[in-house]
Amino acid sequence: MSILVVGSVAFDNVKTPTGGGTDLLGGSATHFAIAASFFSQVRLVAVVGEDFEDRHVAPFRERRVDLAGLQRVAGRTFRWAGEYGDDPNDRRTLDTQLNVFADFQPRIPEGWARSPVVFLANIDPELQWHVIEQVDAPAIVAADTMNFWIDSKRAGLLRTLSRVRILFVNDSELRDLTGRRNIVQAVDAVRAMGPQVVVVKRGEHGVIVFQPQGTFAVPAYPVREVVDPTGAGDSFAGGFLGYVASRLHAGPPDYRRAAVVGSVMASFQVEAFSLDRVRTLTPGEIAERYRGFRDLTCFDDLDPDALLGAAAP
Ligand code: AMP
Repeated sequence: MSILVVGSVAFDNVKTPTGGGTDLLGGSATHFAIAASFFSQVRLVAVVGEDFEDRHVAPFRERRVDLAGLQRVAGRTFRWAGEYGDDPNDRRTLDTQLNVFADFQPRIPEGWARSPVVFLANIDPELQWHVIEQVDAPAIVAADTMNFWIDSKRAGLLRTLSRVRILFVNDSELRDLTGRRNIVQAVDAVRAMGPQVVVVKRGEHGVIVFQPQGTFAVPAYPVREVVDPTGAGDSFAGGFLGYVASRLHAGPPDYRRAAVVGSVMASFQVEAFSLDRVRTLTPGEIAERYRGFRDLTCFDDLDPDALLGAAAP
């Protein structure tokens, strides 16, 4: 099934303990689209400025992302700057310039209104809403957001969430959104806002998927060097939803696999700046790391009652 994504296409300035870069191709929709494209057809809705050159379009074309919904207008592309401490979960936003996104009116191209899966990547909740209003009863609406929008556009975000089924959120955003520290209580509070599947991203500590049918946790893959965490959350969502969209009538076991697929894609994303690692990624490497996750998390089928067997008093 096709996935329609709306979100930012950006130039990022990033500083990490191992280095940094300026004008790196990024954005929530970018990282999502590239990761999801390994599993499903992706349709991208976003806007860029005159500073967005042909070479910036190449990674999307290489992955066959449909760009009919990418507008190019006068002005500068969205820009974000951030810095990471020694703890990769510890990110500081230094600057956010909406630029061409300030006046953006998303237009859904002919034929895209029937997209069965919609991903509202991190962007102004009002733009997310405009997209929801233009699509025709999609089977799945999923969304992501950020403290920036939780703090500045709360009412709009709550309106969007009322139509969302799957929410991707990190633990600090979850606290901001609900005012609850306890993760289970916070998830209950999110469910009262709309989303019934809540995917809590905990950076290098992995992710927990709260579904009505049960809860599933996956650790983050132990990568040797986290070069740049930027885009990990969007790549996770891309792998997760890309896989779900590739399964007809996805059920709870598919959602468990999707959490692993998302973690696989995020683990590649953090190995280099911008799209440097994922651009060269092969299906074989994805399968190999999926296998790595299975080895990491699989344990034998010993009967739990037999655990203390011989030693029990
Ligand atoms: P992630 O690391 O997955 O949370 O996403 C990082 C990407 O989100 C970067 O490439 C940024 O360009 C983009 N981004 C940062 N802040 C915002 C914002 N307020 N709205 C939309 N996109 C943003």
